[in-house]
Amino acid sequence: MTRPLAALSPLVPAALGAVIGIASGHPLLGLLLGLAAACGLALVLARRTASQLRELARAAQSISSGDFSPRIRHIDRGESGELASAMDEMAARLEAKLDEAGRSREELRALLSGMGEGVIATDRGQKILFYNQAAAALLDFEADTPPGRMLWEVVRDNEVVRAAKGAFESGARRTFQLGPVRNRHLDVSVYPWPSSGRAEGVVIVAHDATESVRYQELRKEFVANVSHELRTPLTMIKGFVETLRDGALADAVKGPEFLGTIEKHVDQLTNLVSDLLELSRLESREGLPRRARVEMAATLTRVVEFMKPAAEKKRQTLELSLNGSLPGVAGDPDYLERAVSNLVDNAIKYTPEGGRIHLSAKSHEDDVVIEVTDTGIGIPPEDVPRVFERFYRVDKSRSREMGGTGLGLSIVKHVVQVHGGTVEVESAVGKGSTFRVRLPAITS
Ligand code: ADP
Repeated sequence: MTRPLAALSPLVPAALGAVIGIASGHPLLGLLLGLAAACGLALVLARRTASQLRELARAAQSISSGDFSPRIRHIDRGESGELASAMDEMAARLEAKLDEAGRSREELRALLSGMGEGVIATDRGQKILFYNQAAAALLDFEADTPPGRMLWEVVRDNEVVRAAKGAFESGARRTFQLGPVRNRHLDVSVYPWPSSGRAEGVVIVAHDATESVRYQELRKEFVANVSHELRTPLTMIKGFVETLRDGALADAVKGPEFLGTIEKHVDQLTNLVSDLLELSRLESREGLPRRARVEMAATLTRVVEFMKPAAEKKRQTLELSLNGSLPGVAGDPDYLERAVSNLVDNAIKYTPEGGRIHLSAKSHEDDVVIEVTDTGIGIPPEDVPRVFERFYRVDKSRSREMGGTGLGLSIVKHVVQVHGGTVEVESAVGKGSTFRVRLPAITS
C-alpha cells in the first residue's frame, strides 16, 4: 500500500493545480502551479528518503565494524522503517551471538591455560594458531612466543614436527613418547582437526609422563632386585642339598654343618619374604595406621628387653634413657615397635663386639624424638642419602652375612612417614651412627 501512495503523492498537487486552473479559466497557469507544487513535494520526499538511506548506511557500516550499539530509531514508517527495524533486530541478534561466542572462547582459553597438559593448535600449513603455557614449559619454548609462527621454528623437536605432518596428511592420530626433554618424559598425541572430514590442521597434546616412567623404572628395578635376592639363597640351598645327597649327609661333621648353613639361608629367605610383605602392606596402606595412643616409653622398654640377648651375644651394652614424661603418639603400636626394633637390630649388627648402643626418647616442641646411637662401623657420607632405599646396602656381603635383607630401613622410613613423622641419620665412618625419628605427639 505504501509504495503506490508514495509514488503518487507528488502527482496529487499537479492534478489539483490542473483542476483549479480549469475551474478558474486559467488551465495553463493552474497546471504550472500544480507542477511547481509537485516538484517541491517530490524534492522534500527525495531529501527525506536520502537522509533515511544515509542513516541506514551509517548503521550498516558500524555493524560491519563490530559496533552494534547505534539503533536506528527515527525511521518508523514505510519501507525504510521496515528495513531499519530488520537491521536493528539483526544487529541485536548478531551482538548476542558474538557475545556468546566470545564467552565460549574465553572459557575455552581459561580451560586450556589451566590444564597441566600442553596444547598447541596449528593450521594446515603448520602455522601455530594457539598454545597454552603448559605447552611452552613441556616442549621447552618461550612462553611469550607470539602465535602465528611456524611449528618447526618454535618446537625444536623434530619428532613432534614430523608427527604433526604425518597426522595431518594421514588424517589419523599419532602417539609417541618423547624424552627426556630437560629431564622430563612426555607422552605426545597429535590429532587432526576437525575430528571428521578434511583436516584443517592439527592439535598437539603433550602430557608429563615423568612420574609414570620413573615408577615403571622403579618397578623393573624392584623386580630385578627381588629376583636377585631370592636367587642367591636358593642357589646356596640347592648347592648344599646336592652336596648332602652326594654323601656329605653321612659325614658326622659336615652333615650337621651343611644343614646349619641351609637353615641360615632358609631364615634369610623367610626374613626377605616377610619384609617384602610388610613393605607391600605399608605401601598399599592396607589397614594402616591404627590410630591407638602409643606410649613410646613402653615401646622402647619392650624393644630393649627383647633385643638384649642379641646385644649380649656380642658383649655390647644396650641402654635406654628416657628424659622426663613423654606425650603419646597416635598410631599403630606394632608398626612403631617394628620400626624401633629395626633400628636397634641394625645398631647391634653394624657395631663390633664390645660396642655401645644407646636408645633415648624425649619430647621436643610438638614431637616425640627417638634416637638410636651406636659406636659401630658408621656409614660413608656418599651412602648416607641412599640407605633408606629398598635393597640399598653399603656392603652387600656383610649385610647378607648378618641376615640382612636390605629392606629394614625402608620399612622404618615407611612406618615413620605414614605416622606423619621423619627419620634421618648422622654418621661417621669408624665412629658410629645416630638414627633420629621424630613423630608428632598427641597434643590435646
Ligand atoms: P640390612 O638388612 O642390610 O641391614 P637396612 O635397610 O636395614 O638393610 O640397612 C641398609 C644399609 O644401611 C645396611 O646394609 C648398612 O650398610 C647400612 N646401615 C644401616 N644401619 C646401620 C648402622 N647402624 N650402622 C652402619 N650402617 C648401617
